Amino acid sequence: MLYDVIIIGRGPAGLSASLYTARGNMKTLILGKESALEKGKVIENYCCTEAGSGKDLVEKGIDQARSFGAEIVEEEVLDIKKDKYFTITTDKQQFQGKAVIIATGKARTQVPIDHLKRFEGNGVHYCAICDGFFYTGKKVGVLGYKDYAVHELRDLERTTKDIILYTNGNELQMSEGNKKYLQDKNISIHTKAIKSLAGDEFLEKIIFQDGSEETIEGLFVAYGSASSIDFARKLGILIENNNIKVDAEQKTSIEGVFAAGDCTGGLTQVATAVGQGAIAGQKAKAYVQNLN
Ligand SMILES: Cc1cc2nc3c(=O)[nH]c(=O)nc-3n(C[C@H](O)[C@H](O)[C@H](O)COP(=O)(O)OP(=O)(O)OC[C@H]3O[C@@H](n4cnc5c(N)ncnc54)[C@H](O)[C@@H]3O)c2cc1C
Repeated sequence: MLYDVIIIGRGPAGLSASLYTARGNMKTLILGKESALEKGKVIENYCCTEAGSGKDLVEKGIDQARSFGAEIVEEEVLDIKKDKYFTITTDKQQFQGKAVIIATGKARTQVPIDHLKRFEGNGVHYCAICDGFFYTGKKVGVLGYKDYAVHELRDLERTTKDIILYTNGNELQMSEGNKKYLQDKNISIHTKAIKSLAGDEFLEKIIFQDGSEETIEGLFVAYGSASSIDFARKLGILIENNNIKVDAEQKTSIEGVFAAGDCTGGLTQVATAVGQGAIAGQKAKAYVQNLN
């Protein structure tokens, strides 16, 4: 299904963007689940509305977006690819969009494993499709326990069959289909908690909390759900201080991709998310109109 604009995230940034696209006759799809705002018990600093719960605000935003024709699908996005249009892969299906707005909130926190950062680019990677090639035929690990980890693992299988899934003490939280896939492919799953990574210049081994060790040549981090930074890496979008870099029109460094809200850094508040979402929606609409 081809949409004019696909918005990833149904928090205040994504919902605000949709008002400008859907109300401007753009066929709009919003993909996303719970917003950070829904955790806020009382929001009293958002202008022009009385204090209320964050959940209430989001529910009103969802009704408002739907009233203008935006479709909202509660699915997790695993991948974005750019060809003629953008192809968005979720945990269940694929959608195509002429423009994309990333409004996925704050990028996830660092994985609590010692020395992970030290080996970034030298054994530790965050994008299988980008860097998997360097590990052709080598022994690699995928760090994760959700559908996103299996998505990355499947990408890696094109270059090597020697893959271990490390869950770092987490239970598998993924679709039955993906669990069956791991089983059918006989993928080794190591569930022990990891303490640190070790090596000289390049990653050489994983050290577990129980003191045991395992040699490995590469580790692909796909921990939890895919974040704005993962999407940025896959598309080659510029990142600055772990935030998506945007200009005053909420444009990223890739044509047709806009970003708004907490994923761009700055003042991480509802007012900022709504303001940036409005600009992103308006500019995405103009971009699509120029294509047609
Ligand atoms: C406890 C708490 C209290 C707060 N109190 C206040 C307050 O009083 N006032 C205030 O102004 N701000 C407050 N904030 C901050 C405010 O909630 C955020 O600034 C705001 O929600 C950011 O909006 P956003 O749309 O950028 O991101 P979010 O609201 O975080 O929404 C992100 C969206 O992206 C989706 N998403 C993420 N990854 C994926 C993926 N891979 N696939 C599909 N969807 C994805 C999420 O499911 C969600 O729908 C509070 C935050 C918290 C946590």
